[in-house]
Amino acid sequence: MGRVEAIIAAGGRGRRVGADRNKLLLPLAGRPVLAHTLEAFERAACVDRVVLVAAPQDLGACAEIVAGAGFRKVEAIVPGGPERQDSVARGLDAVGPDVEVVVVHDGARPLVAAETIHAAVEGARCWGAVVAALPVRDTIKVVDSACAVVSTPERDRLWAAQTPQAFQAPVLREAFAWAARSGHRGTDEASLVEAAGGRVMVIPGREDNIKITTPADFLVAEAFLASRGDGARPVPPVSVGFGFDVHRLVAGRPLVLGGVEIPSPLGLLGHSDADVLLHALMDALLGAAGLGDIGRCFPDTDERYHGISSVVLLERVAEMLRQAGWQAIHADATVVAEKPKVAPYVPAMAAKVAAVLGMPEERVNIKGKTTEGLGFPGRGEGIAAYAVAVLRKL
Ligand code: MG
Repeated sequence: MGRVEAIIAAGGRGRRVGADRNKLLLPLAGRPVLAHTLEAFERAACVDRVVLVAAPQDLGACAEIVAGAGFRKVEAIVPGGPERQDSVARGLDAVGPDVEVVVVHDGARPLVAAETIHAAVEGARCWGAVVAALPVRDTIKVVDSACAVVSTPERDRLWAAQTPQAFQAPVLREAFAWAARSGHRGTDEASLVEAAGGRVMVIPGREDNIKITTPADFLVAEAFLASRGDGARPVPPVSVGFGFDVHRLVAGRPLVLGGVEIPSPLGLLGHSDADVLLHALMDALLGAAGLGDIGRCFPDTDERYHGISSVVLLERVAEMLRQAGWQAIHADATVVAEKPKVAPYVPAMAAKVAAVLGMPEERVNIKGKTTEGLGFPGRGEGIAAYAVAVLRKL
């Protein structure tokens, strides 16, 4: 049997999902929407090669997704045009000359089943041009520009078109050539074949082969993914980290906890401002992101960190998290000290930490504990802090 190549149209802008990035680059169950779509074609045994068409500004991001996941079928990533028809035309130019069947698929339909791709390819071999579609369940109204109903088409004959759409290569090439000559514009590839006088058959689509267009579609798609069970169940895109620190209490030093200076006859000794609470918190954040610890990031042998405010270090940790694609969504910390009482300062500490990490104050939980006079905290020799942080993958 002849070669089969797929064109994945990924040139969307994401305006309708309210994001400033292409929606195909946004995460769905922990990986970009486009990665799910490409994975489906990688697994479809009937497809030999994939041509990915992306908006010019997304070419780099798409190449990273392909390289990161090792999608070996994606041999060409080509810049799209102003509209879908232009983009698919450019994708078609990149399809090999000896190809028997061309499959066109929306990058925004990440849940496409291998059986649907296979049925489309076989359908194209048999009939020349096919489109996956579902019978329409709602009654459809045709309205005029004043929103007055003009007609009600017979529902039994209405099908909603999805992708994949598959074509014998000469059929699709002739339809695009005809559209270029005549200036015809269509919203999908099948409609070009129809308008050019060709015959297109419908094959059964699937309910879960949704097109991700609005924010609600992400929720629906994640629910479908979760319902598939076994290996396909998504791993929650969150990570947890733990931190611990101790500093000695001495005379003649300010006491800074959680970025807040607290009146006290004794302060904590250290290379920086010795903010034991922020140190434990930073270790928790770095730990959750797999970025080591503050000793590695800000060594106490480095004079640049002598006397530095730990809030400045926390700002650097926040930037490291951003660059690694993590967002803090919750932090919980305990300060172990006989005195002073930390409770009165907790709101100010939480506000400071939340502002630096870009999270709501109510997700920063800080509490004080004593050790009933036992051990070094009980004797007032030092203060310890423990922290747990939860990060979400962006
Ligand atoms: Mg420390």
